[in-house]
Amino acid sequence: MPPGLSDSCGICRQKYPFSLPRCAMCRKAFCSACGVRVGGARFCSKACGHAFFYGSSADVDDPERESADDE
Ligand SMILES: [Zn+2]
Ligand SMILES: [Zn+2]
Repeated sequence: MPPGLSDSCGICRQKYPFSLPRCAMCRKAFCSACGVRVGGARFCSKACGHAFFYGSSADVDDPERESADDE
């Protein structure tokens, strides 16, 4: 099967004959049935959406957190 033309959902494992969107948080592919809308964007799960927008304890690079080097 040619790459890029099929994808399988990382949540329900269902295979689709087209490439699925990827979660901006965990890079997991998700289908329309599994995708969750959070803050106007779609994620593989509500947890990922919340982590993306509100941050979480997960080890994620926080763009707002610039290396504060004040001594
Ligand atoms: Zn799915
Ligand atoms: Zn995710």
